[in-house]
Amino acid sequence: MTGAARGIGRAIAELYAERGWRVLSADLSLPPNLRGQRRVKADVSTAAGRERIVRAAREMGGVQVLVNNAAFQGAHGSVLDVSERGWARTLNVNLTAPLLLTRALVDLLPRGAAVVNVASVQGLFAEQGNAAYNASKGGLVNLTRAMALDLAPHGLRVNAVAPGAISTEAVLQSITESDDPEQTRRDYEDLHALRRLGTPREVAQVVYFLGSEDAAFMTGTIIPVDGGMTASFMMAGRPV
Ligand code: NAD
Repeated sequence: MTGAARGIGRAIAELYAERGWRVLSADLSLPPNLRGQRRVKADVSTAAGRERIVRAAREMGGVQVLVNNAAFQGAHGSVLDVSERGWARTLNVNLTAPLLLTRALVDLLPRGAAVVNVASVQGLFAEQGNAAYNASKGGLVNLTRAMALDLAPHGLRVNAVAPGAISTEAVLQSITESDDPEQTRRDYEDLHALRRLGTPREVAQVVYFLGSEDAAFMTGTIIPVDGGMTASFMMAGRPV
């Protein structure tokens, strides 16, 4: 699993470890040490980083569930002003790396194995001023479908989750550091019909389900884990 050092990725790694799985966690910085976890320092957007992950996966005897979770969320900017560098980094980490890592690992995924991509509600709808991230997650949504079709003959299933706003360290920090943290938190909460942020654990549970035999007849699906955000066509979600 990639991007396991913090946030949603860490919650996914913890859930698998709790349920007795051996977890291979890859991240730019070394993920926290969980029982049964093998940690690899790797940038998924580089060939060398992916090779390190493949080598560790081979040593562990293969991969039953691959979770493409790592993402770069730092290149804010509109269609008119996003930097070319930020655009390239975002697309490389969020879209190209899941393709290339999955391809690199495909021989280590036995029939019946599963891939779960962590997309976003921003892959289903766009947010103003966040062109690169929107494009990368929209790409990942349709890449998930393409992977499902192309890997089905190999006996592999591929699905994605599309989380709403989740109470990760990064999201909580952006709330705390805003001019009016209480209002910012309410604004985030009001994006969702359930009027709260999701937790990393709530996303992890759906990832776990999609990776499991319980989801044996599911492939090519994108599951929103968004407290009803995408059930509304009015994204502010307030009753009129
Ligand atoms: P985060 O930024 O807290 O953690 C991402 C992790 O990925 C970090 O540990 C980071 O070091 C790692 N990472 C980044 N680039 C990497 C690279 N090139 N190689 C290896 N590791 C790399 O992110 P998060 O908020 O936990 O998000 C996890 C996933 O969920 C992402 O795909 C994100 O787009 C998606 N998501 C998050 C939210 C949210 O509200 N937090 C909402 C929708 C979707």
